[in-house]
Amino acid sequence: MREVFRPGRIGPLSLPHRIVMGAMHLGLESLDDGGRALSAFYVERVRGGAGLIVTGGAAVSRVGAGGAHYGVLDDPAFRDRLRRVTGDVHAAGGLIALQLFHAGRYASPKAFGLQPVAPSAVFSRVSGAEPAELSGADIEATLEDFGRAGGYASQLGFDAVEIMGSEGYLVDQFLSPFTNRRDDDWGGDPQRRARFGVEALRRVRDAAGSSFPVIVRFSGADLMDGGTSQPDVLGFAKLLAQAGADALNIGIGWHESPVPTVQTLVPPGTWAPVAAAVKQAVGDLPVIASNRINRLESAEPVIASGQADYVSMARPFLADPELMSKARAGERINLCIACNQACIDRSLSDEHVSCMVNPRAAHELEFPRVRPAAELPARQRTATPTTTTTTPADPESVAAESAVAEAVLAGSAVAGSAVAGSAVAGSAVAGSVVAGRWGGASRVAVIGGGPAGLAAARQLAADGHRVDLYEASGALGGQFNLACRVPGKADYASTVDYFATELARLGVQIRLGRAITVDDLDLLRSYDRLVVATGVRPRRVDIPGADLPHVVPYPAAFADGALGQRVAIIGGGGIAVDLAHLASHGSAAMAPAVRFLREHGVEPGPVPVTGRRDVTILQRGERLGVTIGKSTRWAVLATLRRQGVRVLPRLTYRRITAEGVHVVDADGTEHLVPADTVVIAAGQERDTTVSDLIRLAGIDHQVIGGARQSAGLDAVLAFADGLRVATPP
Ligand code: SF4
Repeated sequence: MREVFRPGRIGPLSLPHRIVMGAMHLGLESLDDGGRALSAFYVERVRGGAGLIVTGGAAVSRVGAGGAHYGVLDDPAFRDRLRRVTGDVHAAGGLIALQLFHAGRYASPKAFGLQPVAPSAVFSRVSGAEPAELSGADIEATLEDFGRAGGYASQLGFDAVEIMGSEGYLVDQFLSPFTNRRDDDWGGDPQRRARFGVEALRRVRDAAGSSFPVIVRFSGADLMDGGTSQPDVLGFAKLLAQAGADALNIGIGWHESPVPTVQTLVPPGTWAPVAAAVKQAVGDLPVIASNRINRLESAEPVIASGQADYVSMARPFLADPELMSKARAGERINLCIACNQACIDRSLSDEHVSCMVNPRAAHELEFPRVRPAAELPARQRTATPTTTTTTPADPESVAAESAVAEAVLAGSAVAGSAVAGSAVAGSAVAGSVVAGRWGGASRVAVIGGGPAGLAAARQLAADGHRVDLYEASGALGGQFNLACRVPGKADYASTVDYFATELARLGVQIRLGRAITVDDLDLLRSYDRLVVATGVRPRRVDIPGADLPHVVPYPAAFADGALGQRVAIIGGGGIAVDLAHLASHGSAAMAPAVRFLREHGVEPGPVPVTGRRDVTILQRGERLGVTIGKSTRWAVLATLRRQGVRVLPRLTYRRITAEGVHVVDADGTEHLVPADTVVIAAGQERDTTVSDLIRLAGIDHQVIGGARQSAGLDAVLAFADGLRVATPP
């Protein structure tokens, strides 16, 4: 990756490489801790090799704040936090730009009880409000807000600012004829619609100093019906160049545009040509490409081909703060898998963000850092990690054995609790750390190699414990091994690879295909600590015919060749949606990005698809996929509609026959849904086989992840549970 690691310049700033850490609102900005948590977040990324960092949006005024947890620059306490951030980042050798933010009509009226403002009074689905139209005097005052914010940035020690105009925020709102319906100095034709953004740049520059670097971020394609045309966008870019912008950062889409831009189903690299068009228009002015570039390997050709000078990556720095230093050293990176579940979805709900695959993100002060290899104790550095695999046990036989064990152990469990008082405590969940064992390294068994078990084993081993991980199946990863088969989710496999690599690095002994049975109780007693992370199993349904050979539980349905041509899926949760997506996707002989752009009407052209199955989702409830995150649900449901998936809500299941599923709909009519394969995806229940066995034997243990709680559990909570249970109090 020669080009990614080539130093560069933005204005007077010398940058160590071509990756900019993009802005992310964290929810730490308003934390009343003097800026400690915010600073720790950024400093860790500086230490991990980040070059120029752009902060999350700092509101130039209260009415422009994106939510209640946004920092507002007129607040002295927020400025104090930022002063700490710049001091600490500089002390660590980093560079940081302040993003100046005004949400316009996207501002939430709930945040500060203020009506949002915009160029014109055009209702916003995002804020759920109709904004007040800015008068000429209001616009002047808003520009003064931007200018004052630029002054603050320079006084607080920032190295640059980025004016945030993309994704449909205020600058974009002025530029677009969809939201700017004025006919005055600030609207009416492309030049007047562009004027606000150009003037904001001038005000910031005037206040911050003539040599202070100013980056402007705007949407290179808003993907909105009736939105800004490409000639208007390119004209705006040229005006910004003439007005002295130091770089242009090209966002994609608006928050309300009907085309997904950052979700898993957007093929990586799809949007680079948008930045390339801007680059062509502005010549030597540095252009930064962004959106859905999650690997440095994908950034390399964008820079090498001249499509852009820099690539902005935001979420990848949540997933792995050491992204750049690890890449330089050739080490494995914890990849952002674009799930959005702990970052964008939380941000949209004004919650504190983190990362599914790195739950320590934005919690740096709460959890210890996992040490790089060179910092590990000698015992771990010299340990030889092993992975042994035995033939996986049949889950049915393990369950049966557990039932036998229950009967056998019923008496001794009572005795155990009477004598040691630990049988009841043994059912304790995450957080019931065994007192006194944290002082030094102990022997720990982690049972289960899904997300919760992987996270726990990694953190425990990093803390110096000797960890053995037992996984009943033949592979680590749990349900991630199903998810990675879904179109767009192939990167989920890289998470499993990453954790497997980490466990090996940290000396964890991995036993695959090793189910825990009643014969292992003495073995389990030999450990200082047991963590049970056996996850979930599919919920069985009580429908006549559910035992027919063409009825399969959802884990089996993800396998190659498991599905026929006509598929009925019983259940309406996230797994049912994933399976329907997989079953109806088919294949098209074209690059994934081209298929995506054509299917979403962004570029013209046919998409001849072969191998699509006929899929029907049968559900008892009304709304499909309610557990899917807000930023992804709408996009994947639109994909199912496009792929012809039928959804039948409010059903009662009567019986399954060789012909399909007999159901009764909401108006009481019984009918047959024909199917040659019926998949049961009706939810999950805790897999307590092992925890019951251990509990009944009176052995102290902790239960985490899906084995602890299946209702409302997702991979975000599972990874976080693993981290929490492994962290000393
Ligand atoms: Fe990426 Fe998901 Fe982590 Fe967000 S939560 S940074 S999308 S892996």
